Amino acid sequence: MRVLLVEDEQNVANFLKKGLEEEFYTVDVAEDGAEGYNMATSKEYDCLILDVMLPQLSGIEICKKLRAAGLKTPILMLTALDSIGNKVEGLESGADDYLTKPFAFSELLARIRALLRRAPDSLSELTLQDLRMDLLSRRVFRGDQEILLTQKGFAILEYFLRNKGRVLSRTQIIENIWGYNFDPNTNVVDVHIKFLREKIDKGFPKKLIHTVRGAGYVLKAEDDQ
Ligand code: CA
Repeated sequence: MRVLLVEDEQNVANFLKKGLEEEFYTVDVAEDGAEGYNMATSKEYDCLILDVMLPQLSGIEICKKLRAAGLKTPILMLTALDSIGNKVEGLESGADDYLTKPFAFSELLARIRALLRRAPDSLSELTLQDLRMDLLSRRVFRGDQEILLTQKGFAILEYFLRNKGRVLSRTQIIENIWGYNFDPNTNVVDVHIKFLREKIDKGFPKKLIHTVRGAGYVLKAEDDQ
């Protein structure tokens, strides 16, 4: 699940990003309203978390613009302003829920899960043959066997499952999992894919992760074209 967090207070942003990543979410952070709006309109996210008080564009303005543009992604608003007026304004701008700062991280998680469950076209499960990923409980199975993955392993497998049958280059994988600023010359992708293969494919007769020489990797059933 990809989350965009728009929060200008760096310590809050870092804390939430780290916490969400530990729960296997892939998190992008924008530090001002304009950047947040651009990212929300240029990449696909499963959930947006918008702080209200932001430089350039407020969370409420971002929300209004996104809804006016037809974006239906669930939006959770973070507000330090504990007044009825602000909550109403947030919800009327098109946010699905709000949370007043300071809040407990466990409450943020619960709100996000509730929003994802309610989202009209959200997927709760991704599958390929006997490989099954439950996006809400963050669990992966191959047949009856549960597969325990690291946070990055889970994120990579989710990206593969959302793009099954498509060849994904190392650069695409790095951009989606680690973000744009990551050194594209590292072998980190190959290392993670090697671990992923040991978990997903090792011991199973049908392999699902395939190397495409000179191009990248593809997740597909062996007999698919
Ligand atoms: Ca703020």
